[in-house]
Amino acid sequence: MSSVLDLARADLRSLEAYRHAAWEPSLERLHANELPWRPHADNSAAGLNRYPEPQPRALVERLARLYAVTPAELLIGRGSDEAIDLLVRAFCRAEHDSVMIFPPTFGMYAVAARIQGAGVVEVPLDRAAGFALDAAAALDRWRAGLKIVFVCSPNNPTGNLVEAATLERLCVALAGKALVVVDEAYTEFAATPSVIAWRKRFAHLVVLRTMSKAFGLAGARCGALIGDPALVDLLRRMIPPYSLTTASIESALHALEPAQLAGAAARVERIVQERPRLAALLQDVPRVRRVWPSAANFLLVECEGADRVLAAGVAAGLLVRDIGSYPGLQGALRVTVGTPEQNDRLATAARSA
Ligand SMILES: *Cc1c(COP(=O)(O)O)cnc(C)c1O
Repeated sequence: MSSVLDLARADLRSLEAYRHAAWEPSLERLHANELPWRPHADNSAAGLNRYPEPQPRALVERLARLYAVTPAELLIGRGSDEAIDLLVRAFCRAEHDSVMIFPPTFGMYAVAARIQGAGVVEVPLDRAAGFALDAAAALDRWRAGLKIVFVCSPNNPTGNLVEAATLERLCVALAGKALVVVDEAYTEFAATPSVIAWRKRFAHLVVLRTMSKAFGLAGARCGALIGDPALVDLLRRMIPPYSLTTASIESALHALEPAQLAGAAARVERIVQERPRLAALLQDVPRVRRVWPSAANFLLVECEGADRVLAAGVAAGLLVRDIGSYPGLQGALRVTVGTPEQNDRLATAARSA
């Protein structure tokens, strides 16, 4: 089997990483030009005067255990956004290569590609089929230089899962041709298993996970990329050495302690239980044409007069997302499932819109 690195930029395959200061916690640090004193009100364990440990081993190990992979298969980034950016830069030559996306979908894939000067091939989801991904259309559009296929499941902003059979078909057909990157940012809210287990069959499968959603740590900026060890090794040489701050590392480690994991699972369960209740409340709103089924922690809501619904929400102190400018989503709002009180308040406001 050919290495996934055959698809990466040839000029980067032998990149030498920046040589950061050695990580030797048992020794006192006079090798990194840090100040020897902590700043005022620093309550971190490691000390904010110190550079953090690059790819902190304890966190890599805990996340690897959580996702049932080996540490060599896992890269930690400043949110999965950083992983998306690194992938595009590692695989796409400006003005030559491209990525494939399935709109309407998460905006960062196309933004990262455009910043890199890579092309963006769009294969729209089929709205009439519940925003299903058309694998045959995707494979038809593949050509040499199309390096990354970004699949978001559950998809933001439509909320639906991509069928396992569709994903498998893409993985089988694109071996040796392109990376298949499955963004599972919302998978904890879905009932289907992660595709991480498929990594054993597909070296070119990359999975993105994040602590921003189910773990409630969006402000900590901590995400994981799971992929082939050779790919992870290349990205570790590319990533800024101090990408994760001490504060992020320590909050992520805390969130991954067993007692905290149980709490996070309980909070996800509350959102999952609240989701159909909010959907039913919104479906009852006269201006709401359709609430789409969702496997995530948000609902796609098509309205008659979305701006009126949006404004009624704002008047009640609640902001929902206007996604009417996404292709095929005119009049649509994306509503994050909140607390029961917030959800009730939103539905009441929307009824008056
Ligand atoms: C929110 C979200 C992410 C998470 O990004 P982070 O950088 O990890 O916060 C990734 N992908 C999708 C589709 C998202 O909606």
